[in-house]
Amino acid sequence: MIASEEQWISAAARLFQEADYAVAFTGAGMSTASGIPDFRSPGTGKWENADPREVASLTGFRNRPEEFYEWVRPLAQQMFAAAPNPGHRALAALERGGFLTTLITQNIDQLHRRAGSKEMLEIHGNIGTASCPSCDCTYASNQFRDDLLQEEMALPTCTRCGCILKLDIILFGEMLPEKTMCNAQKAVLSCDLMLVAGSSLQVFPAADLPAMAHRNGASLIIINHEETHLDNVTRIVLRADVAKALPAIVDRLPTRQSIHDETLK
Ligand code: ZN
Repeated sequence: MIASEEQWISAAARLFQEADYAVAFTGAGMSTASGIPDFRSPGTGKWENADPREVASLTGFRNRPEEFYEWVRPLAQQMFAAAPNPGHRALAALERGGFLTTLITQNIDQLHRRAGSKEMLEIHGNIGTASCPSCDCTYASNQFRDDLLQEEMALPTCTRCGCILKLDIILFGEMLPEKTMCNAQKAVLSCDLMLVAGSSLQVFPAADLPAMAHRNGASLIIINHEETHLDNVTRIVLRADVAKALPAIVDRLPTRQSIHDETLK
């Protein structure tokens, strides 16, 4: 007999209850319910035909920062304007309830943080800060956000040396932050349960992390609309919307007032 989605949701909740150390790994699908497109796909951003792998590459940014900012501006506008969805809030609730130890995200939109997640590893950086490539000064978003949000070309620049700032997001061709990746690997090798939510596991090396957890003996839960290369070794695969499935899992966990109060807001 094939189990219903309800039964899979209950089974996922049981795995969270039984786990000693659960890690979540999230990707672009997590934020689509918040209206943020997957910026790695061609056709996003201002230029329909721009290939993000060129315009949002480290070389592209260094050689043509105006083009990079023109491409990134509409995405940044969407991210600053977006609100966390029930999926983000459910993951924060899992952490508060002690069911989730670490959240690893590929997303740069800061929606997990805004939903209340604390133990977070943003392996692709985030749009909350920018740094000067020349003098290493770091700026919080309130200092460069206006430049980013203007329709007219205004590049955020370093107030100390005048150099064009780079958003603290990992561009194509750029190494992932070493310390964050190291901490992510440590969490992955410590966990006995890994939830993959809203990621098709196609962006490497980040997508190696769930495979590493599996090889190390952890159980996997995958909630994603598309297939992934790990579906066949995964305990529970839900072809569902993370913004619906994750709150449903939280609803099946033992009532702890603090979890449910915040989730339902
Ligand atoms: Zn500078």
